[in-house]
Amino acid sequence: MKYLSTRDHSLKKSFNEILYQGLSKDGGLYLPVEWPTIDIENLQNKSYEDVALEIIFPFVKENFSKKDLQNILNESYANFRHIKRAPVKELETNKYILELIYGPTYAFKDYALQFLGKLFSNSLSKNPKKITVLGATSGDTGSAAINAFKKNQHINVFILHPHQKISSIQQKQMTTVNESNIFNLAIDGNFDDCQKIVKELFVDDDIQNKTSLTAINSINWARLIAQVVYYFWSHLQIKNRDINFIVPSGNFGNIFSAYVAKQMGLPIKRLHIATNKNDILKSIITNGQMTKKIVSQTYSPSMDIQISSNFERQMFESFDRDSDKVNFAFNEFYKSGNYLFSSDIINNFKKIYDASSISDEETLQTISNIFEKYNYISDPHTATGLKLLMDKNDEETWVSLACAHPAKFNSAVKKAINKEADIPIELSNLFDKKEKMTILPNDINKVKNYLLENI
Ligand SMILES: *Cc1c(COP(=O)(O)O)cnc(C)c1O
Repeated sequence: MKYLSTRDHSLKKSFNEILYQGLSKDGGLYLPVEWPTIDIENLQNKSYEDVALEIIFPFVKENFSKKDLQNILNESYANFRHIKRAPVKELETNKYILELIYGPTYAFKDYALQFLGKLFSNSLSKNPKKITVLGATSGDTGSAAINAFKKNQHINVFILHPHQKISSIQQKQMTTVNESNIFNLAIDGNFDDCQKIVKELFVDDDIQNKTSLTAINSINWARLIAQVVYYFWSHLQIKNRDINFIVPSGNFGNIFSAYVAKQMGLPIKRLHIATNKNDILKSIITNGQMTKKIVSQTYSPSMDIQISSNFERQMFESFDRDSDKVNFAFNEFYKSGNYLFSSDIINNFKKIYDASSISDEETLQTISNIFEKYNYISDPHTATGLKLLMDKNDEETWVSLACAHPAKFNSAVKKAINKEADIPIELSNLFDKKEKMTILPNDINKVKNYLLENI
């Protein structure tokens, strides 16, 4: 299996070549040159890890043996807290929740980042080199990445977060990991400032001369293939029916993995995008408008994104895999802050996707409704999807994704139902642990010097 770029469809890279690289040099994102197909009959009665093996192997087989991949997958999910890894819960006839909250940091990011951590370890043990992971986080990605890469002597991890602007549980999940390869940098600024510093360091010559930097944000292709697994897995649990998914979306990574599952043969009919007030995805799907807007803060911070990086992959697909058309669209967009998709392309999006924007008020109301009706506490990200699930009244099977444990977002939960979700012991223990982080000003040179001294 070779990989092309959404900005250069003639490219042919191996999986190993794209593993540590988020973005292609041409600025595009990687995609396989063709979609492998999966025989679902072959997946019956297998464990989560064995289903994952069948789905992921075609993407990596040039560089990883099936035996190696099997070991990597077994290690990745061994410490998840549910025997089914990603269980499906029936709320009522035809309405289900796929729970992705059983990983070490209690958010769905674990399903991909634990895999990425073990994949890197395996690859670096065969081919030793020192790599530096650098990223910015508004919460969930940072803790999932730190947990996945801690204790690996080949990898140093530098995670920037906005000082005192993330929840205390999210901060402690990162800063109480007391390992010599983990560096938490609290920046006196907001999330955008952190992201800007990271972007500039990725193209900084002094840094590049000293180490190879690796991005582990959601545009990394290996993360997306790990997420394809749980879409097949929910179909196997509900048993052989056409299926539809509702996905709370920010960077369009999770829902694009559902699209990949569909291309590989999973009988998905429709994918419904749930966004919060930051509704650029809704405006693209409903009227073709891709417009730069200011990000608003909501109760679902991991979805507070206006430019969804992974949507470029869907554009490439809908443009008949022609990278010239993708380049043209982005040139327009960068020039004017605006791009209008043609009606053909809008119809192409609409063949698969629906999109809705859910307000903060509706989010809290849904947490409350779901609690009263089913005695189920949902986090605010999950609730944006559950609002749409509750409104469905067709005869279809709908599965909505639970993206994080409600205890990570208890201030919103408390506003909605006047009580907090029970905090799992691993999270409440964090409050007794010592924190390790370095507070730095919002100044790229200070961060750069810190990196150069510590890599
Ligand atoms: C990352 C995240 C999302 C958004 O997922 P994307 O893949 O960026 O669309 C939604 N909810 C939670 C809890 C997240 O951590």
